Amino acid sequence: MNKELHPVSLVGAGPGDPELLTVRALKRIEAADVVLADDLIDARVLALVKGRLLRVGKRGGCISTDQGFIHALMLREARAGHRVVRLKGGDPFVFGRGGEEVTALRAAGLEVEVVSGLTSGIAGVAAVGIPVTDRRASPGVVLVTGHPGEGCAEPDWALLARCGLTLVVYMGVARCAHIVQQLQAAGLPAQTPAAVVHAAHTEHQRHAVGTLAELPELALRLGSPALLVIGAVAALADAVALAAPVRALALRG
Ligand code: SAH
Repeated sequence: MNKELHPVSLVGAGPGDPELLTVRALKRIEAADVVLADDLIDARVLALVKGRLLRVGKRGGCISTDQGFIHALMLREARAGHRVVRLKGGDPFVFGRGGEEVTALRAAGLEVEVVSGLTSGIAGVAAVGIPVTDRRASPGVVLVTGHPGEGCAEPDWALLARCGLTLVVYMGVARCAHIVQQLQAAGLPAQTPAAVVHAAHTEHQRHAVGTLAELPELALRLGSPALLVIGAVAALADAVALAAPVRALALRG
């Protein structure tokens, strides 16, 4: 009987613009009987859904859908023989609880397919001309959460301050002042280049570039969803971003 069931697809929707979906993601979205979509999925991507669309967002600080309920819903739909897509912003395995969902679905005896997407911390940052690594400026990059949440340890900011790599902080706007204070206390210079990229690859995209010391103010000004970029590569950001449409904030304007 299990043979007739379709694998559940965990699909990365990319950072915004539907042109950044993978070909496989597009195929799965279009073929789905039911799509369970997170917050932060661009309306233009949601418009591609032909089956039932269920919004099961979990935005930080707001009323959110219980993770157990999402698992149960996916199981019910998959066991009914439906093609189920679990649609997540960016890449499903980067701060998207994709790993937990795979574990839960497999424990329940279902097959799961993961369709990777462009993660905002790389493609979203590139939208404003920042390469996360660059031979001239940074030999590597750390993708880190600014909002560890329950069951997840606070990143070791003192260690990260000394690692010499680009730091790309997801979910970092609300705790930006704390993060900057920790990094500076561990010796990262106040003049280190830093940038905030808000709503990359969407029609609301904006970014600002400055220094580590200025980052909390810039982050507050642009607001969530945004990525914080800390390190020499941030200075490579375009005054006007590469991806259109764009409203770039003037430097320290
Ligand atoms: N799985 C996603 C990340 C989910 S966590 C990915 O791979 O991109 C949610 C956080 O991602 C947001 O708080 C923000 O920091 C970041 N984010 C997601 N989409 C974004 C976008 N279009 N522009 C800027 N930041 C984004």
